[in-house]
Amino acid sequence: MKRTTPSDQTVLVTGGAGFVGSHLVDALAPDNDVRVLDDLSSGDPTKVDDRATVIEGDVRDPDAVREAMAGADLVFHEAALVSVEQSVENPQESHAVTTGGTLTVLDAARDEDARVVLASSAAVYGHPESVPVQESDRKTPTSPYGIDKLAADQYARRFSELYGLETVALRYFNIYGPRQNPEYSAVVSVFEDQALAGDPITVEGDGSQTRDFVHVDDVVQANLLAAETDRVGEAFNVGTGESVTIRELAETVRDVAGSDSDIVHTDPRPGDIDHSEADVSKARQQLGYEPTVSLRDGLESLLDRN
Ligand code: NAD
Repeated sequence: MKRTTPSDQTVLVTGGAGFVGSHLVDALAPDNDVRVLDDLSSGDPTKVDDRATVIEGDVRDPDAVREAMAGADLVFHEAALVSVEQSVENPQESHAVTTGGTLTVLDAARDEDARVVLASSAAVYGHPESVPVQESDRKTPTSPYGIDKLAADQYARRFSELYGLETVALRYFNIYGPRQNPEYSAVVSVFEDQALAGDPITVEGDGSQTRDFVHVDDVVQANLLAAETDRVGEAFNVGTGESVTIRELAETVRDVAGSDSDIVHTDPRPGDIDHSEADVSKARQQLGYEPTVSLRDGLESLLDRN
């Protein structure tokens, strides 16, 4: 098992002006030639390390992808239509960006013989039969977003078998950390803003639903390991292996923020998943992944920044 971080490589980060992508660029820019391909639909180029080159372009555009990937050794494919709600409103666009964009990236990577580390999602599992969820568990995604992530995840892995392309799919659970895009159900940043403002913290439903919140630093760690592993053609869960209820999350955020906000309950979100927790033993054993940031520490460092 190798444990080194990529160095002296030409690296493309699609969606590199976004939340996860910009943190990946931070980790890679000191020792690699890093390019970002981002259509800036939600990404912010001012958040990208100055050493990286930002190319404004769409992952649906084969010419833009080929040009951005010329000479690349390694691709981290983060760009997607990330909002579940938007995917429900516009499944065609979700499919075009998330599945179609991934195919375009995989095809271009074949030409360059570049490894692709794909941002997949816990959404591929839908309502899990039991938790913690293992990679081989049933996949019944409940939204176009989840369906498109599942297709992208499968394409990446089949490209490894069919064409010998080195790919790794990372199924991220609920990520939080600095620079998170607050637009789509980023519950941690919503609670944080409410607690700091002294506004009521709004828990959807009874708050007994559980989630596995993983800090973005650990997601970066998993990506760097995936860049070096010999376990290609595989998918790995990326979470912490622990979960909290949303009610507990609200209480912890309130506590860490030193806030006296009330916690109030609103209508449950239709179709919300009851329980989600990653089994990370495959990533531990095969990638050498080890989650390092506890939820309390992660929330404290997030709130310290304000
Ligand atoms: P983000 O919205 O912060 O970043 C996505 C980036 O992709 C943005 O900069 C956006 O401008 C860019 N983008 C969108 N459409 C594009 C297109 N057509 N062409 C080029 N660029 C495009 O989201 P994030 O939270 O950083 O998510 C990164 C990846 O991780 C996504 O694939 C997402 O589906 C996946 N993921 C995220 C989470 C999470 O909790 N944040 C969980 C599971 C999976």
